[in-house]
Amino acid sequence: MHGEMMEEQLLISDILEHAAAVHGQAEIVSRYSHRDIHRYGYADALERTKKLANALSRLGVIEGQCVGTLAWNDHRHFELYYAISGIGAITHTINPRQSSEQISYIINHASDTFIFLDPDFIPLLESIEHQIKGVIGFVVLANRFEMPPTKLPNVWCYEELLQGESETYHWPRFPDSTAASLCYTSGTTGDPKGVLYSHRSTLSHARAVAGGEGWMLDSSSSVLPVVPMFHACAWGIPYSAAMLGSKLVLPGGALDGKSLFELIDSEAVNSMCGVPTVWQGLLRHLDSIGRKLTNVEKVVVGGSAAPLSMIQEFDEKHDVFVMHGWGMTELSPVGAVNCLTPEMKLMPRNERHQLQMKQGKPLFGIKMKIVDDNGMEQPHDGRSFGRLMVKGPWVAKSYFKCTDHSAFSCDGWFDTGDISTIDSSGYMQIVDRAKDVIKSGGEWISSIEIENAALGCDGVTEACVIAATHDKWGERPLLLITVNKLRSEKTVQQHLANVLPKIWLPDAIIIVETLPHNATGKLLKQELRKTYQNYLISDEIA
Ligand code: ADP
Repeated sequence: MHGEMMEEQLLISDILEHAAAVHGQAEIVSRYSHRDIHRYGYADALERTKKLANALSRLGVIEGQCVGTLAWNDHRHFELYYAISGIGAITHTINPRQSSEQISYIINHASDTFIFLDPDFIPLLESIEHQIKGVIGFVVLANRFEMPPTKLPNVWCYEELLQGESETYHWPRFPDSTAASLCYTSGTTGDPKGVLYSHRSTLSHARAVAGGEGWMLDSSSSVLPVVPMFHACAWGIPYSAAMLGSKLVLPGGALDGKSLFELIDSEAVNSMCGVPTVWQGLLRHLDSIGRKLTNVEKVVVGGSAAPLSMIQEFDEKHDVFVMHGWGMTELSPVGAVNCLTPEMKLMPRNERHQLQMKQGKPLFGIKMKIVDDNGMEQPHDGRSFGRLMVKGPWVAKSYFKCTDHSAFSCDGWFDTGDISTIDSSGYMQIVDRAKDVIKSGGEWISSIEIENAALGCDGVTEACVIAATHDKWGERPLLLITVNKLRSEKTVQQHLANVLPKIWLPDAIIIVETLPHNATGKLLKQELRKTYQNYLISDEIA
């Protein structure tokens, strides 16, 4: 027997209609790349989004077509998120940090009809224009007087495009399983893979991350997503903030510590989200000017693990709670969050910091299990580890136009490629990426744990551990670090000896000028592995 309730579909356009109706004056504040501030409310945003929806229809964009965006976090990108998906087309966010080959590959693969781009990215598109012939036109996100000269063909000015359009638009209704947006993984191996989100998956995810198990947003929040809107929908924040009427602070392209602090301070930001490298930059800036964070209550760290030293520094110097969020493009992207619980509040500081190191509990809707190489489920005892498998309504079931289904098991679980533990309370902790874990003799060594330990040593600014081939042990850890003060490898070695088991100590430590990163700011370990593969080949363990 079916329930007798309405079969009302919830669509992305409903979020903005709701925000405009009940949180119309709540602000969206954006900083343009040239540092001016733009501010308006959700009601204004809806008006302009409707004009954009009319403009898209006039350009000939129809349901099911992909429209590319190549833009920083600002109000125009926000309008694109809602207008493109709202008319039933697909918002394809393009990550400008990917290589130009990858960018032309994904534009062609998605068959983008138009690309909306910030002026900053004109040179990038000019350099690949001859490879993306399917694109009908380019819309530059600017006023007419800001339009730079360009060799791109068929160019529109965004503000002119909107100018003559009506503020009346009736959003079409369609099944909520309709595709809404598309994001490609950074593709460290092989071609990038597209993850095609639906309206339903986007709304389910946004509701889950917005609430008490997630970012804990409400109408008193002022939230700063430093995490880019061009990757994995900025962790759902442009949707979650609108659902709850939170003030949304969008930082444009200036992501250095100084620029971020100016915005955090002037907009009374109390929640912010980003990858660890961004927060390192902010902390160093605050140190250099001797300032404290006054309004910020929590900082969400995801994309890679937050080192213990960062959790401690935010807490002890700034009274800010570091909240791990774990996820990946294939999960829209968030699967687990480590939020502040009543039990945590009562814990001694050190104990709480240790617990904060875990990536968190799965959000309601996400199921998790860990399995060994034979697919045998491992116990949730906080010690046994295995490949992390997930399923849920905002987890991908296949890649866009792709025949490789190896990550998707036939019984409906997605293999994340992460190795993790799960404890008896349900906290999941990432041990390593399966491809990064160091297999030394019979032992598995976590590269992440060594990196965290190294970052706890004063003067170490970045740390990367890779598996180097070793004739006796198979693989041994090799530590590469960047430093901001003159110091010898010996100091780091001594520090590590105090905090790590002997067998985990890296066989060598190398100070380097810089470490390579991929398009989402993660360390490019594969590249380093190629260079340093044979560095330890006949060394004995120290
Ligand atoms: P890609 O585009 O390469 O798929 P993602 O941004 O989706 O990149 O990265 C997903 C991976 O990032 C996860 O599988 C995990 O290894 C790592 N990751 C994400 N969040 C965290 C976190 N909080 N702590 C540790 N690792 C994380």
